[in-house]
Amino acid sequence: MKSSNERRPEAERSARLLQQQIEMGGRELFMDRLTREQALALAAAAKSGGADISALDSGENFKSLPVLPASYEELRSTALRCDRCRLAESRTQVVFSDGSVDARLVVVGEAPGANEDRTGIPFVGAAGQYLDLLLATVGMSRKDSVYICNVLKCRPPGNRNPMDDEISACSSFLEKQLELVHPEALLAVGSFAAQLLTGQEKTALGRLRGEVHSYRDIPLVCTYHPAALLRNRKWTRSFWDDLQLLRTVMDSA
Ligand code: URA
Repeated sequence: MKSSNERRPEAERSARLLQQQIEMGGRELFMDRLTREQALALAAAAKSGGADISALDSGENFKSLPVLPASYEELRSTALRCDRCRLAESRTQVVFSDGSVDARLVVVGEAPGANEDRTGIPFVGAAGQYLDLLLATVGMSRKDSVYICNVLKCRPPGNRNPMDDEISACSSFLEKQLELVHPEALLAVGSFAAQLLTGQEKTALGRLRGEVHSYRDIPLVCTYHPAALLRNRKWTRSFWDDLQLLRTVMDSA
């Protein structure tokens, strides 16, 4: 257990990160096990030069502040041993990413399914194969130009929807991945990725698609999840339209 003095620089660094996040309009207070009030108090402390954080420096909270490593490989290995939410207990493997870190495009999905949990690779099941096929129609492939990952890095049991606290616990990994890969464009597939990356948590996917958003100055297109296309083939045309929009954005970059 670290002493309170040893924890302080870590807390101040986290407070600064949080302040930046708030200033950039982020909707997520992604520090799990920290209440919103504590997080806002930390942000206020950071703003006033890291003033009095001692009231918060008591017990479990600071142990879990996610000061994530700056290098890609360290980030990945931190994620692979993550136990920040309940999904760590039921997962087989952490599913961090697939594709090239030099990719022009990052695709963000929802969460691993059974095949991904087994293999440790995102989008390897039927939905993933369909996604690969559709990306190929615009000349994009995870072999060279696409990096693919999910909002959650661990499979929710029975493929249930991600829970808010799981998204909060995991989203700093995604944030750092996007910062390090820093693609020319982002494609959010499905409502969880679209709502998280646009910051519009209450807006239906149908209203987020069809236009170009921005995630920290990176153009962002939102579209249907490929699993939804498999259930409802008539959405494939809309997905394809969104890919054309994405292609236009990338061609003009
Ligand atoms: N669905 C997702 O959102 N991600 C995967 O990796 C697999 C299925």
